[in-house]
Amino acid sequence: MTLYKPKVVTLDDFDRNAVPSQLIEIHRRLRRGGHDAFLVGGCIRDYLLGLSPKDFDTATNARPEKIRKLLPQAFIIGRRFRLIHARRGDTTFEIATYRKEPPSINSTHSKRRISLENTFGNQREDAFRRDFTINALYLDLRRKEVVDYVGGLKDLQDRVIRSIGPADERFQEDPVRMIRAARFAAKLGFSLDAEVKSAIRSNKRLLGLVSRPRMRDELTKLFLSGHGVASYQVMTDLNLLECVFPQHKAASSMIKHAMIESDERYASGHKLSSAYFFGAMLWHFYADRLQVLDNEHGANSNIGVLREQACFDVLQMSRQYVSLNREAQQFILNIFALQRRLERKQNVGRTLDHPRIRAAIHLLELRAKSGEIDPSLVEWWKKRQPARKVDRRRKRRSNRNYRRSPGDRHRLKVEKN
Ligand code: ATP
Ligand code: MG
Repeated sequence: MTLYKPKVVTLDDFDRNAVPSQLIEIHRRLRRGGHDAFLVGGCIRDYLLGLSPKDFDTATNARPEKIRKLLPQAFIIGRRFRLIHARRGDTTFEIATYRKEPPSINSTHSKRRISLENTFGNQREDAFRRDFTINALYLDLRRKEVVDYVGGLKDLQDRVIRSIGPADERFQEDPVRMIRAARFAAKLGFSLDAEVKSAIRSNKRLLGLVSRPRMRDELTKLFLSGHGVASYQVMTDLNLLECVFPQHKAASSMIKHAMIESDERYASGHKLSSAYFFGAMLWHFYADRLQVLDNEHGANSNIGVLREQACFDVLQMSRQYVSLNREAQQFILNIFALQRRLERKQNVGRTLDHPRIRAAIHLLELRAKSGEIDPSLVEWWKKRQPARKVDRRRKRRSNRNYRRSPGDRHRLKVEKN
């Protein structure tokens, strides 16, 4: 699989407008300083597939301190491996010095090591430390040339996800790569190379070693980036979902609907809340836990206390897999607690005033879609729910303008005509 001599392909019809002008300037400055400047990774993969890249990463042989000197508004970030963030208006461009994987020590222990430590290297070494061939292409913006050390161009053409080096070893070094493989398969509609599939089968248990914040970030990218339904399918086909969310089968209907909804929201440009999404994933367990607690203590206990206990237990359970910050936990607690009031049409005025009411009605709707409750209840609440916060703010502002003076009122009327 591995090609040691890089293949260089000129993209005659490369469209420079596909790249922000500030980035072209950044590359120019690096080159003027006597260094390499290449775009690398996902942006080239996406460009070559006709997709619009999410962000643009640059790789160079300049060291971080030098990059900072060459570029205005550039800051060194990261402790273990130092990267540069160059701010240009609202956009931040990431620039990284070429690095290589450290040589692995041949011991059973080192095999299980999660290796994220790196040292500086050259471009070839930088290519080989990356995860998949389609993610290791370099583009010289000035020459319009793609440099390919690992057969990524062919794999892009064949629409296949292939590991750089032995998949088994690469997944042992960093188990998150297994989830990344599923993510790219789902996002791009690519197939997984047989070696990658088999290495996932034999190493998936290592996902338990991934830190919870990293897992939360990966799951968010997997499920909340517009390809949640496809990701769910790939993750279940590979039996990977059970490693990150063991009880998912019991909640599959709710989860599937949550994925459909999140893809729709992403496509229509709406904000996606990961707290809401994880809440939807956990709802089923909360309802089950509440039932158990109710059976055990129902007669002698206050339902409010039981609900809090059930929510606490479920959040505790989820902590084994993902880490949710305090704000997200509070959010989940609120929308779960509101479900009972919504079911019973209780304290309508006060319930509608709750800051989380829109998300709670949203969850109610999801429950209706998975057949748990009557959809007419959702309609009842939706007719009464307050407008979105932005709409409310807009309305208040326009009311304020309207009231400010009789002249304003007149002006508004004139503008309308
Ligand atoms: P996306 O479009 O989702 O951002 P991406 O390929 O750009 O996809 P990033 O997470 O932004 O993914 O990573 C940028 C690049 O860094 C990747 O293309 C890959 O070359 C490399 N990379 C990221 N994570 C890993 C990893 N765990 N192991 C090896 N290489 C990685
Ligand atoms: Mg990226």
